[in-house]
Amino acid sequence: MLLGAIEAGGTKFVLAVGNQDGEILDKLTIPTEHPDQTIPKVVNYFKDKGIKKLGLGAFGPIDLNQKSPTYGQLQKTPKTDWVDYPLGAVLQEKLSVPVVIDTDVNVAAMAEAKFGNATDVDSCLYITVGTGIGGGFYYRGQTLNGLSHPELGHIKVRRHPDDRYQGTCPSHGDCLEGLAAGPALEKRWGKKGDQLVGVDEVWEMEAFYLAQALTIFIYVLSPERIVLGGGVMKQKQLFPLIRKYVIDMLNGYVSSPYLTADQIDQYIVAPGLTDEAGIKGALYLVMD
Ligand code: ADP
Ligand code: ZN
Repeated sequence: MLLGAIEAGGTKFVLAVGNQDGEILDKLTIPTEHPDQTIPKVVNYFKDKGIKKLGLGAFGPIDLNQKSPTYGQLQKTPKTDWVDYPLGAVLQEKLSVPVVIDTDVNVAAMAEAKFGNATDVDSCLYITVGTGIGGGFYYRGQTLNGLSHPELGHIKVRRHPDDRYQGTCPSHGDCLEGLAAGPALEKRWGKKGDQLVGVDEVWEMEAFYLAQALTIFIYVLSPERIVLGGGVMKQKQLFPLIRKYVIDMLNGYVSSPYLTADQIDQYIVAPGLTDEAGIKGALYLVMD
C-alpha cells in the first residue's frame, strides 16, 4: 500500500510517497508560497500516485483536536497568508484520502525515536532551532499534545548579562525564540548565523539560552534523549557548549549517568535523520 507524507514548513513543503516499511520512494520539495499557489502543486503531485492515506507534519500553531470543527486548521501563525487556512480539510477533500496530522516537531521526535538517534529509548525530545524554535516530545509510541500542542520555543529565559537585544518574538519579545532563533542572531549581531563562525561570544550566549531551555525541559519532561536540529544547530561548536552549561545549570540535582561530563554527548545529540526527520515522521503517522 502506498502512503503519502507532507512536511509542511514555513519555507518549504516536502512531499513524498512511501510504504509501510517507512521507506521514502519518491520525494519533491516546493517552496511555501500563498496557499493558492502551494496547494495546487501539492494536489498535482499526489493526484496520480495512488496513495491510500496521508500523514501531515505541519508548522503551527494548528488545531490538532480531532473533535474540533476546525481540526487541521492553521491558527495565529506568523506566516500571514496561512492564518486560519483549513490545511487538513482541504487536503482530505481534494485528495479523497484520510489525513493524519501532527506538528512538524512532534513528527520529527517520532521519526528520531523510530528510525534515528533515539531508537534505543522510550522517550525523545526534539528541538529545532531555525527560523523559530519549537519542540516535540515522543513518549512510548505517542507524541504529546493536549489543550493545544506544546510551544516549547516561547518559554521565558533568564537574560544573559551581556545581552541588550530586545528580542524578535511578536507575541513575547524576549522569549527563548525571540532571543535565540536564527532571526534573533541576525538582528543582534548584524549577520546571519552562518557568517558568525568563530565569533565566540555569539555561540557562548546562544548556548546559555538553549541550555536554560533544555534544563527546564529536563525538569518538566525527563526525556531520555534530546535531539537538537534546525539550521542554527549546524554550528556544531554549540553542542559541547550547551552540554557543559546543562550540567552546570542542573548542578547535580537530577541523577543520571547521562547527565555527567562522560556521557552527556550521548544524551544531547544531533539528529540521526539529518534532513529527513520531518518527512519520515509524517509517513510514520499513517503506517500501521
Ligand atoms: P526553517 O526553520 O525555516 O525550517 P532552518 O531550520 O534551516 O529552516 O532555519 C533557518 C534559520 O537558521 C535561518 O535564520 C538561518 O539564518 C539559520 N541558519 C541556517 N543555516 C545556518 C548555519 N549553517 N549556521 C547558523 N545558522 C544557520
Ligand atoms: Zn514568543
